[in-house]
Amino acid sequence: MKLIFEKGGPGRHLALLPDCDVPEVLPSKEWTRETAPHLPQVSETEISRHYTQLALRTRGVNGGFYPLGSCTMKYNPKVNEEAAALPGFQELHPLQPVHTVQGALKVLFQAGKLLDEITAMDQMTFQPAAGAHGEFTGLLLIKAWHLSRGDEGRRKIIVPDSAHGTNPASAAMCGMEVVSIPSAADGCVDLEALKAAMGPDVAGLMLTNPNTLGLFDRNILEITRIVHEAGGLCYYDGANLNAVMGIARPGDMGFDVVHLNLHKTFSTPHGGGGPGCGAVGCKEFLIPFLPGLIVKETADGSLQLLRPEHSIGDVKAFHGNFLVVVKALAYILTLGREGIPEAAKNAVLNANYMRHKLSDVYQMASPGLCMHEFVMDLEKLKHETGVTAMDVAKALLDYGIHPPTMYFPLIVHEALMAEPTETEDRETLDEAIEVFHKIYQQAHENPQSLKDSPHLTPIGRPDEVTAARKPVLRYRWETEQ
Ligand SMILES: *Cc1c(COP(=O)(O)O)cnc(C)c1O
Repeated sequence: MKLIFEKGGPGRHLALLPDCDVPEVLPSKEWTRETAPHLPQVSETEISRHYTQLALRTRGVNGGFYPLGSCTMKYNPKVNEEAAALPGFQELHPLQPVHTVQGALKVLFQAGKLLDEITAMDQMTFQPAAGAHGEFTGLLLIKAWHLSRGDEGRRKIIVPDSAHGTNPASAAMCGMEVVSIPSAADGCVDLEALKAAMGPDVAGLMLTNPNTLGLFDRNILEITRIVHEAGGLCYYDGANLNAVMGIARPGDMGFDVVHLNLHKTFSTPHGGGGPGCGAVGCKEFLIPFLPGLIVKETADGSLQLLRPEHSIGDVKAFHGNFLVVVKALAYILTLGREGIPEAAKNAVLNANYMRHKLSDVYQMASPGLCMHEFVMDLEKLKHETGVTAMDVAKALLDYGIHPPTMYFPLIVHEALMAEPTETEDRETLDEAIEVFHKIYQQAHENPQSLKDSPHLTPIGRPDEVTAARKPVLRYRWETEQ
């Protein structure tokens, strides 16, 4: 496919604008460039075709099944986008006087109240722009709380090895020392290891639940009790709350802080770095430390903004990605009290359906039922046929399926982590299951064909390290060399 710069020719353009009828004013010589920039000169037809072709190469949930584990690539209702596109929300300025933005504040207030109810927390902040950003914020709250009590020696954060990769990274970003503890054979936290790790230097525990094996930790109450007894606080990574929302609440499990990925669970199209929201909820005693401004209802029913007394400061400007909160609120109100737990049940049902149907030939990383996602362990397949998790992932592309998350969690070496999500129907799951079976057969009959896959995508297997570390993002004209 040609780049836009390689299309068109001199003088081609969109002939829609009338000629300029006011005097042209050019900046002074010192501000003007000596040579004209290399801008594409293309007709409207060429532009339209170019971007349509690019869009067709983009793989999204609207194009097909997208079981990317831990990322919740589900269908997001278009009505949420419509709500976020309302001019009354979209054309606001964050510095407008408070009495002119009562509707927007109501969105923040109401979304906060509903998410408090869903998580059993007392206050939300929407400043963090992503899940990892929420973790960072939540840990800063924990740190600030310990310091406010003069408890300065608590520098360690306990992170089970089944945690999401961002957990230890966020703790390190906060200047904490990360202590990793192993999982027991059942994939849950090893209680003895947890007890052994506790001490007066521990600030708290960060737990991903369901964990990255897709398991709900059955000892959750015991875990939070152990941490609290040793003077630590408990942080809940609730990025993937779609497994438990409306059914179990982090606050009831003993957690003090939680983050939610509104751009996963509460429906915002994401991926490619688009706007997100890692909403952070906390218990009452941590509210004074929250970042940003908090919406409060006054006696006359109007809404005001208040900065918490011992705020850790801003972690992002104003209220974060506000329109993401509008979408989340639209989503929660659409689903309602019955729809929220139903979505969770369907997420779990779909994952277990797929897991069960695949376990005849594929090995699973842990026994028993899973939550919203499951992890396959392809070590045996690799041993028998040489076909790796990477080969299976690449082969799926030829069948129009986005690969599951690969080589994660790190505790499973040939891992494929699949999350079908609650928005897929049974036919789609059955088709995907058939594809997985076909690939398994192909691995035994003609492993090389899988090693050479994908065969049908615009590019095959790029050098992933170079592509990630040294991406070529700039087009160079020949004359520039
Ligand atoms: C996605 C995810 C995160 C990180 O969220 P980002 O928005 O990508 O920063 C953290 N924890 C879990 C369990 C996740 O699935």
